[in-house]
Amino acid sequence: MSKKDPSQAIQKRIEILRRTLKEYDEAYYVRDAPKVPDAEYDRLMQALIALEEEHPEYATPDSPTKRVGGSPLATFAKSAHQTPMLSLENAFSRQDLLDFDGRVRERLETTLPLEYECEPKLDGIAVNLTYEEGVLTKAATRGDGFLGEDITQNAKTIPTIPLKLSGSLPSFLEVRGEIYMPKKRFEVLNEALQKKGGKCFVNPRNAAAGSLRQLDPKVTAERSLSMLCYGIGGTRGFQTPQTMALLLDKLAEWGCSVIPERKVASSINECFELYDGLRARRSELPFEMDGMVIKVNRLDYQERLGAISKSPRWAIAYKFPAQEEMTQVLAITFQVGRTGALTPVAHLKPVFVGGVTVGNATLHNMDEVRRLDVRVGDRVIIRRAGDVIPQVVKVIVEMRPSHTGIVELPLRCPICQADVVKPVGDAIARCMGGLSCPAQLTASLVHFASRDAMSITGLGKKRIGEMVSSGLLKSAADLYTLTHAEVVASPRMGEKSAINLLAAIEKSKETTFARFLYALGIREVGEAMAKKLASHFKSLDDLMAARFETLQTISDVGTVMGETILSFFEQPQNRRVIHALLAAGVSWANVPHDLQSSSLSGKQFVLTGVLSSMTRGEAKAELEGRGARVGETVSRKTSYVVVGENPGSKLEKAKELGVKILGEAEFLEMLK
Ligand code: NAD
Repeated sequence: MSKKDPSQAIQKRIEILRRTLKEYDEAYYVRDAPKVPDAEYDRLMQALIALEEEHPEYATPDSPTKRVGGSPLATFAKSAHQTPMLSLENAFSRQDLLDFDGRVRERLETTLPLEYECEPKLDGIAVNLTYEEGVLTKAATRGDGFLGEDITQNAKTIPTIPLKLSGSLPSFLEVRGEIYMPKKRFEVLNEALQKKGGKCFVNPRNAAAGSLRQLDPKVTAERSLSMLCYGIGGTRGFQTPQTMALLLDKLAEWGCSVIPERKVASSINECFELYDGLRARRSELPFEMDGMVIKVNRLDYQERLGAISKSPRWAIAYKFPAQEEMTQVLAITFQVGRTGALTPVAHLKPVFVGGVTVGNATLHNMDEVRRLDVRVGDRVIIRRAGDVIPQVVKVIVEMRPSHTGIVELPLRCPICQADVVKPVGDAIARCMGGLSCPAQLTASLVHFASRDAMSITGLGKKRIGEMVSSGLLKSAADLYTLTHAEVVASPRMGEKSAINLLAAIEKSKETTFARFLYALGIREVGEAMAKKLASHFKSLDDLMAARFETLQTISDVGTVMGETILSFFEQPQNRRVIHALLAAGVSWANVPHDLQSSSLSGKQFVLTGVLSSMTRGEAKAELEGRGARVGETVSRKTSYVVVGENPGSKLEKAKELGVKILGEAEFLEMLK
């Protein structure tokens, strides 16, 4: 190709983009195995749209910009839609949306603001349900927009798809909506697949597509899919209402599950507010959405606006920032935690995903490294949804550079060079260096000083790390013998900060038995268990002298936990540190045991509904920490039923049996 001919270069670029997008379409729509994240696909698509607009001479009708992606799988019978199922134009900025509004009003020859019906853009797969005389006769995927796959048998297993509609119905009706996998269900499914050593789904959309397009409807039935409707296709014998909003009301009236969170905006400017509101609730809602769909509300306007080859002119999808992105693994290192666990961490080329810039992602353990087969230099898909920590969900094997090596577990601790041991059948490898390993010591001191433990403000990981490497801290007890001169000599430590830190250390001496136990960092003993132990034993001496059998009588203390607690207190170095801490003045008010085990001891609780101040797990831990028992069913033996918002049938049962019912405020009061 001659360098002097720019038109050839442009043509080549267009060809490459079309080829790449078609390849990605095939992987995404036909094989349910996307090769790249949507954000990357969207970038390439936008680049192609821009080039085709600038160079209409190269436009072709079969370009991915003009066609709805995805030809139907040959393994399913084909099903024709009465009216085509189109895609949607995308907006990525407010300006894109204002441009859309401008185009619409120009076509409608109006200067007045328009009403728009706004809905979540569900990230599932589009489905067409055909109802004849109210009876579901066919369900089909979108396919290429004209021909989809007949998935009737599979769709019939989905509880939210009515087999029969009721009311005054059109003789023929195509209902359009999205089949999706609820987020919770997706997590459970992936966990189960992971346990079996199988391949996980990258995201709920993928999981829904893979679960729906199964040859055996039983598999679909097991996957707990759901459907929400957002429109109609062809109809016979139907007088359409005036607006989209009324049409959706009608669908709901007939028995369809209609998309929730839908609102009508009185102008395009109001759409921005609705978009911000919906986006803020993104992680709360039970379904995955990748944007907000904005539709001209008046149906006669929709009709007048019509469609272009790929999308209607009366709707647009205003996308949310991507939750999945592509980046490169620059290095994989192993972090050593408080209990010596070695955690592989992928260091990434920084990437903006899910609203933050991500530079590292934990790979959890070696099983996960093997499952992903992630290597240094790999291109990977990173997912960050809500506040969940970023995950490497997939390696793009096709983009793997040559000469990459499989990641091996180090034989020695990268920090202290002690042996690394991974017991057979255990996912976690550990450094055997114990507290002589600076990394383990630092992590255990960070835990010791943390808010829910001894709560020493101003003592973060960096500062502790420095004090450990300078030899100032060899155990938690050393914190209480630090002198002003030693602290002030630490790097970046001013006079005032030194005084504050010493004061915070001094203040931490006055603590509670439970906090102290938690601070010790006994493996498996979290906050709730520490509270339980503290309420069960009269004193630390009692706990330290407890026998295995005694520990076993405490609820939730299994064999492993019992042995771990026992062996912790048997270690001479642990006993030394505990005694040094007590000698340094760490103390707690000795709550009389009968008060400690409190009036809740032995009481039976049942929880129902959602509490606003704590999760159900937290409420359970609070109660069990006070010696109460928490059960699932209400019986005459139940002492109290704690009722949150949207309580279940347990409330009725409690009323029936005359069990005492506590509202959230009363419950919190009782915990005090
Ligand atoms: P789309 O998903 O961007 O938008 C159209 C679809 O939105 C409709 O067909 C419908 O199924 C759905 N939708 C959800 N909620 C809706 C609502 N409330 N009202 C109306 N429609 C609603 O378009 P598409 O053509 O299905 O797919 C293109 C997109 O898919 C791309 O933007 C990209 O993000 C993704 N994709 C990714 C890859 C990849 O390799 N990662 C490949 C192909 C496509």
